[in-house]
Parts: sequence; C-alpha cells; structure tokens
Amino acid sequence: MDARDKIYEGKAKILYATDDPARLVQYFKDDATAFNAQKRGEIHDKGVVNNRMSERLFRYLEENGVHTHFVERLDDRRMVVLKLKMLPIEVIVRNRIAGSFARRLGLQEGGTLRHRILEFCLKSDALGDPLLTDDHIHALGLVEDAVLGEVKRVTDRVNELLIAFFAPRGLDLIDLKLEFGIDGDGRLTLGDEICPDTMRLWDHKTGEKKDKDRFRHDLGGVEEAYQEVLARVLG
Ligand code: 5GP
Repeated sequence: MDARDKIYEGKAKILYATDDPARLVQYFKDDATAFNAQKRGEIHDKGVVNNRMSERLFRYLEENGVHTHFVERLDDRRMVVLKLKMLPIEVIVRNRIAGSFARRLGLQEGGTLRHRILEFCLKSDALGDPLLTDDHIHALGLVEDAVLGEVKRVTDRVNELLIAFFAPRGLDLIDLKLEFGIDGDGRLTLGDEICPDTMRLWDHKTGEKKDKDRFRHDLGGVEEAYQEVLARVLG
C-alpha cells in the first residue's frame, strides 16, 4: 500500500492518504506531549511500541467482536487503517481514581470506585479537551443519541475485554481514552491507538506506573516501562 500525501499530523501520529480512498496509513512518532502540550519531549522507540501494541490489541478486540479501524501493520512504525469520519468527542473510562479526575476532585490516586466512570471530552487542543456531559453533547448536536448509546456500549465491552487481557499479564487497567469514527459503510468504528499513551497501567503487585505518567511526572524509566509493557502484551 502506497503512502501518499500527508492529510493530518497530530502530536503523536501522522496520517497519510493511500491509493485506496477508504484506507489511510497511520505513522507513529516518538514525540511525546503532556498537559495540553505544555510539556514536550521524545520517548525513544515509543512509536514502535505503540504501533506493535495497538496492532496486538486491535486484533484481540476484533477477535472478540469489536469493529476497529485496524487493517494491517506495514512495518515498525506504520499500520494501514480504515478512513473514518471521527466523532468530535473523546471517551474516557475510569476503573480507579487517577489523573485529572483525582486532581479535579482533590482525591487520592489509586482509590477504588463503586463502578466504572464514563466521561466525554470535546476534541479540541485549543480548549484543552474540556469535559462534556451527555446533555452538552445532545444540546449541541455533537453526536446523535443512538450513536452515543452505541459508543457507551462498545466502550464498556472494550474496557471489560482489556481488563481481562491485562490481568494475566500482571497489569491493572486504571483508565483508558478511546476515539471513535464512522467508516465508509456507516459503521461505528474504534479508531486512534491503544497504548501506554492512552491508558494508565499499574503493575498489579507493586502498583508501579507502567505508562505515560512516567513521562508526565518525570518518574524516570520511561522507555523501559514502554518496552516492558510491550513485552508483557506480546508475551
Ligand atoms: P486524565 O483525564 O486523567 O488525564 O486521563 C484519563 C486517561 O485518558 C489516561 O489514561 C490518559 O492517558 C488518557 N487521555 C486523556 N486525554 C488524553 C489525550 O488528549 N491524549 C492521550 N494520548 N491520552 C489521553
């Protein structure tokens, strides 16, 4: 598959058009940003890890009935994906208290919840991805009700499947960010990537953070954590 014109460049990935109008090539960079790009850096071989890990997890989700944009991995940093019309929201699932949820509400990280929390954010770098309620989404017509209902259902399924995938690998899925779009056949499709940039993974025994929080909070051992997670995922 030929990668042609660059059609989008984000903080961590580049999308290229291909000779097939229904497919794109997704290229994974080593660039890392945090706190709405106020902190910038590079994580050596992050692109390779995120490409391989996303491939493994997209394949696993597909095997379990979740429709994703993954088509095939081309090489270390590139995968072919379906072209999607992206929904203008990000979906966050929280299984434990961490990150912005802990900060915003003054809670201790690591605390348990009675049930998982679903959150929505507007996809807007300029505004720092502000939180949205269902009512905001409805009143502004951002996503149709039926589609939002399916987004919630698929998000819960993905969360359950990933918790079950990571548990035997000694990792707790603390939270996760998903992005969805509509493919050329009108189907709701899971897009973006699934990797330590987009989820919090803590070692089940030690509680050690094995994700992008090591970069965000200068905890050291960033590259090592990404490589270790990939090894556990592929192992
Ligand atoms: P929080 O809102 O606590 O910062 O993030 C919750 C979860 O969603 C974390 O796993 C975090 O990595 C992911 N997440 C939230 N917003 C973004 C974003 O803009 N980019 C990426 N890569 N991940 C995000």
